[in-house]
Amino acid sequence: MTSGEIACRIMRTAKKLGIKTVAVFSDADRNALHVKMADEAYNIGPAASAESYLKVDKIIEVARLSGAQAIHPGYGFLSENAGFADRLAKENITFIGPPASAMTSMGSKSESKFIMQAAKVPVVPGYHGDNQDDAFLKAEAAKIGYPVLIKAVKGGGGKGMRIVDRPEDFEIMLESSRREAMKSFSDDKVLVEKYLVTPRHVEVQVFADTLGNAVYLFERDCSVQRRHQKILEEAPAPGLSEELRRELGEKAVAAAKAVNYVGAGTVEFIMDNTDQKFYFMEMNTRLQVEHPITEMITNTDLVQWQLEVAAGNRLPKLQNELKKDGWAFEARIYAENPSNNFLPDVGPLLHVQTPEASDSVRLETGFVQGDEISVHYDPMIAKLVVHGENRTAALRILRKALSEYEVVGLNTNIEFLKTLASHPAFIAGEVETGFIKKYEDDMFKPAPPLDHATVAQASLSMVLRDLEATKQAAVIAEDASSPFTLDAGLRLNQLSEQQLAFKLEDQDVKVGVEFNRDGTFNVRVNTPNKTTVFSKVMAKLAGDSSLIAEIENRRYKTSVVQKGDKVHVFAEEGKVTLDVPQPKYLTVGKEEKAGSLRTPMPCKISQVMCKPGDKVVKGQNLIILEAMKMEHVIKSPIDGVISDVFFSIGEMVGENKSLIAFEEAEGAKVAEGAKKA
Ligand code: ADP
Ligand code: ADP
Ligand code: MG
Repeated sequence: MTSGEIACRIMRTAKKLGIKTVAVFSDADRNALHVKMADEAYNIGPAASAESYLKVDKIIEVARLSGAQAIHPGYGFLSENAGFADRLAKENITFIGPPASAMTSMGSKSESKFIMQAAKVPVVPGYHGDNQDDAFLKAEAAKIGYPVLIKAVKGGGGKGMRIVDRPEDFEIMLESSRREAMKSFSDDKVLVEKYLVTPRHVEVQVFADTLGNAVYLFERDCSVQRRHQKILEEAPAPGLSEELRRELGEKAVAAAKAVNYVGAGTVEFIMDNTDQKFYFMEMNTRLQVEHPITEMITNTDLVQWQLEVAAGNRLPKLQNELKKDGWAFEARIYAENPSNNFLPDVGPLLHVQTPEASDSVRLETGFVQGDEISVHYDPMIAKLVVHGENRTAALRILRKALSEYEVVGLNTNIEFLKTLASHPAFIAGEVETGFIKKYEDDMFKPAPPLDHATVAQASLSMVLRDLEATKQAAVIAEDASSPFTLDAGLRLNQLSEQQLAFKLEDQDVKVGVEFNRDGTFNVRVNTPNKTTVFSKVMAKLAGDSSLIAEIENRRYKTSVVQKGDKVHVFAEEGKVTLDVPQPKYLTVGKEEKAGSLRTPMPCKISQVMCKPGDKVVKGQNLIILEAMKMEHVIKSPIDGVISDVFFSIGEMVGENKSLIAFEEAEGAKVAEGAKKA
């Protein structure tokens, strides 16, 4: 019982083993894939997870109704909740996870560090005790030496984490860490530790059974992160000697044994890139998002292992039976906008085309075309997992699979992942947690000039689809006198040239498509300082979105998807989105009112810090929004006077809604500020 892709993943193994599955779902997930996949499914309440997926009583009730003997908590939600595991034990339902006591010990980043020190597992130098006095913590920070990292003791998902570079900033960062920790974990206790400047995140998959066996299934490198969250993981970790690998594995097993661990767990280490020294960071007492890469290099099914262990059986393999084979990568496909600080995005999956699955390409997802990525849960759309015989081979497969992945309807990080997987430093295995920041200039290169052949393909696809639609209309009309029933040839003659217009940012793109008698096309593409004419182009449609074209002797297979006033071209060189200008009569009334601030995404208003009549200065905080479990501060773009505030605390607001209006707005200046905010 859990949600999304991981639920589908777990059910796949259960089905393989002949185990019946029961899913729970919130109102928002009524049509979700995991609900369809399950043998039985039960609604447990509204979209908000606090009222559904986190409701222990409702879940237990479903277990009773369905007669379920065991519950797999997936990850997130209740997976690391010791109280939940305890309740299940009382109800005589098996919790597929570690004993509650191990979860409690490891659930605290401070307690776990004391236990590790006792077990002789190295921990990051720092203070993780009970004294929470501001001045005391600041004195500890000084002892550790700046930069330091403040972490929420109960933290997870990068929340509550603050880097402090200078003593002057300590108090304000402490305050902000506590505030976020309180909100996310209902506990504002923090710890302070040394901030390693060029570290790597290396974690070890461990497994233990109830008979006293414990093993490690090698390591994963999860250094490539944004907002302290993983986006591209690999197994094994590049550049480690076999000795270091064994040492890491053995320390991880020692860590698991120190808390009498049972089941699947991950011991996270932070490794100093300068001297390859590693320190215990935390233990995640559940199956991890990136577990498939370990499965790929060890030929195991870790969900099956979990079920075996939960049934009281011995681990399927002991340490000497475990071998690593080849290399695996996992790319997390997120609904987010990398060029806008990786801000999560929401919206419908209007078009989804995934790479073909094979022995070396595996796709884990809980969404299909037509589904909606909502504000309620994690914005992860899918995980793309690949395996190759070595790192280079695996990386090649990853790049190819990413280039076959098409999503229309919201922003994704697919293009960003492609850039990442093609970066020379990444190819060389020079990973570190600051990788994205370090190579920012390469990662966010301005888009290359528009390729005219790509525009030609988009145009041909649109013209051909249009023609196909008219032909169908003719069939439907079935009326000999209707102008639609003229045969296609005559029609082609009539429309011997079609004009199309696009916009790319502010650039006008004009296209003329001329029909030749031999069935080929001449395509003229014009952008502000360049005109290209492609003669005798061959083109035909294939499938729902593909176009096959031969332009200047080169054959192209391109996906062209038109949705609303945008056309998305998935060309070999990358994705290009062109605007298709709408006729004026369709846009009337949609004009922006200058001088307003708009919501960047659907969200909840969590704080309003101004009211009509207030005089505000540029940069002043006006409103705090909450979306995708993150806070966004809307700042004033100008010095001015507020004339209107359209929403109040607690209200849910859709995307691109006006929040605030200013008196006597200064036109362009305001609009520009609103974009940035
Ligand atoms: P969470 O529970 O939120 O996942 P972690 O303690 O696992 O928090 O840390 C998450 C990430 O933050 C790590 O993968 C690493 O990139 C970074 N990080 C954590 N501790 C340190 C540290 N001491 N120095 C530098 N970076 C750190
Ligand atoms: P970590 O970053 O601590 O190593 P993972 O990378 O395994 O952990 O990611 C798990 C985290 O992702 C969870 O702590 C949770 O915050 C989030 N998460 C994953 N899936 C979901 C989901 N379906 N709903 C809500 N949160 C989720
Ligand atoms: Mg972590």
